Amino acid sequence: MINRHPESDLLVEYVSGSLSVAPCISVTTHLQYCKQCSDSVESLGEIGGELLTTAEAVPVSDELFDRVIASLDSLVKEEPSDEPQRQCSDTISAELPEFVQRLLPDGELDWRRLSPSLKVARISVGEEKYELALHRIDAGGKAPEHDHLGKEITVVLTGSFSDEDGVYQPGDFLVREAGDTHRPFAARNQECICLSVLEAPIRLTGIKRVLNPFLSFTPS
Ligand SMILES: [Zn+2]
Repeated sequence: MINRHPESDLLVEYVSGSLSVAPCISVTTHLQYCKQCSDSVESLGEIGGELLTTAEAVPVSDELFDRVIASLDSLVKEEPSDEPQRQCSDTISAELPEFVQRLLPDGELDWRRLSPSLKVARISVGEEKYELALHRIDAGGKAPEHDHLGKEITVVLTGSFSDEDGVYQPGDFLVREAGDTHRPFAARNQECICLSVLEAPIRLTGIKRVLNPFLSFTPS
């Protein structure tokens, strides 16, 4: 069950087309799981013409959704196809929502180990301000405690993880602001894979400070 959703302000920005690519992807990913927010986006699209002062009309409902998907598809240079086309050969790819699969590069993902139980694979989507990545925490593993120099958006894709504030399941959409500190850990029975959007480098606050050079910030 999904307990965490994007704030309504963020959905308005999403519908109005003012979000940058990576945050847009995070919201679209959440919508794959969440009918409640999909309905909100549809409603916002319907009243978008009144909300927006721009001359350009705002498509509604399925049209809007398709447009977002289409624009993202062009960024990853995928050929149009009616069939799901999975090019990424990484073993985790098949576990992810089709929308996310289509963002992944050909071949294997470039997983880098940040701690004994945490790996990250960055995803290039033509983003300049944010870094988009997959994070993968081993079953029962703990991520290093860290805080944030900027906003971090996390969408749980598979498995679940917990931190000081709660337990998060697939589809949950979390926003951490600059200065928040937390230490996520995965459920014991399954690894957890999340999509994350980072506005600025995270900073390890615990004993693993020495790893900081590996957390260099690379928008792409
Ligand atoms: Zn939602």
